[in-house]
Amino acid sequence: MKRFGSIAAVLLIFILSALALIKVYDKGKDQKPLRYADIPQETIDWINSIGGGLDDLLSGFNPFPRPTPWDNSGDFGQDPESGLQTLEDEYFIFYFPEKLKKKATLCQQLAHEAIPHLAEVVGKYFYPDDMNGRKVPIYLMPDQRSFDRLMVQSFSGQEGNYDTTAGITIFEISPSGFYLKGIALNGRYAFSEDAYTKNVLWHEMTHYCFFASIDYNQYLNLPKWCYEGIAEYTSLPGERPSFSKGEIKMLREDCDFSAPHFPYVFENYKGGQSIFCHMEDRYKVTGVHSFLNILYRKGIPTSLKENFSTTVPAFEEDWKASLENFID
Ligand SMILES: [Zn+2]
Repeated sequence: MKRFGSIAAVLLIFILSALALIKVYDKGKDQKPLRYADIPQETIDWINSIGGGLDDLLSGFNPFPRPTPWDNSGDFGQDPESGLQTLEDEYFIFYFPEKLKKKATLCQQLAHEAIPHLAEVVGKYFYPDDMNGRKVPIYLMPDQRSFDRLMVQSFSGQEGNYDTTAGITIFEISPSGFYLKGIALNGRYAFSEDAYTKNVLWHEMTHYCFFASIDYNQYLNLPKWCYEGIAEYTSLPGERPSFSKGEIKMLREDCDFSAPHFPYVFENYKGGQSIFCHMEDRYKVTGVHSFLNILYRKGIPTSLKENFSTTVPAFEEDWKASLENFID
């Protein structure tokens, strides 16, 4: 009897512990685990440094976890006061004034066409299921004034100079992960012709997938040529940039791969694009793909080493020596 009693006691303890564990599990089920609980300060500084100036990016670090879900109910475009219409499907929500209805339909089609291409080059497309239910919000603004107003009212909260911005991607990194606030296109430039609309929209969507793919738990300080170059490379499939002899001389003299950015805008964008075209020439599209894949987790030097057994200075020298391939 005594023996039976002790077995029953052990069983009881076992059952109680299992019940307690189930309760703890249930409680934690609604709380997403924190992806970036211990993000290095250097990486935070880098995130906060992206944007401003002539960048088509606005990013910031939020030290507080973002509660789920991340649906679109709080989007600026959902406020009737915004005066914007919506075009919504399972992956995207477009916000635009009535007169841009046709452009919204065009952008919706272009955005869907981008998905398989982004998955192939950048490595992964991020669906609402990957973003705690958030669809990609895309704002279409007809002119500079409305674009500036959107930026102040909805995103930055302060005046900025967006006179040369055709499109912009606005995001936040918090301990909960990457959160896309929105993508916005400036009709002053973005709707001049359909091919350019595609270029701008795919460029911004590349930023979305690229920055969402990065593991921010590492020490990271990616240069501008890398994230602008891959966005141009991805948004202009099959196209190669071309440079005058003078521009090639500038690229050779100016561009230091380990600096945060190259001195001139075209050097970061078109120059950056040529770096990825050069990588494709050397190592095929699959080489670009696996370069990015390791870069997301380990940064550029390790990715160049593991993929191509080369170093940053050697790869820089090789690109500079091959710039003749991009002459006008
Ligand atoms: Zn960009």
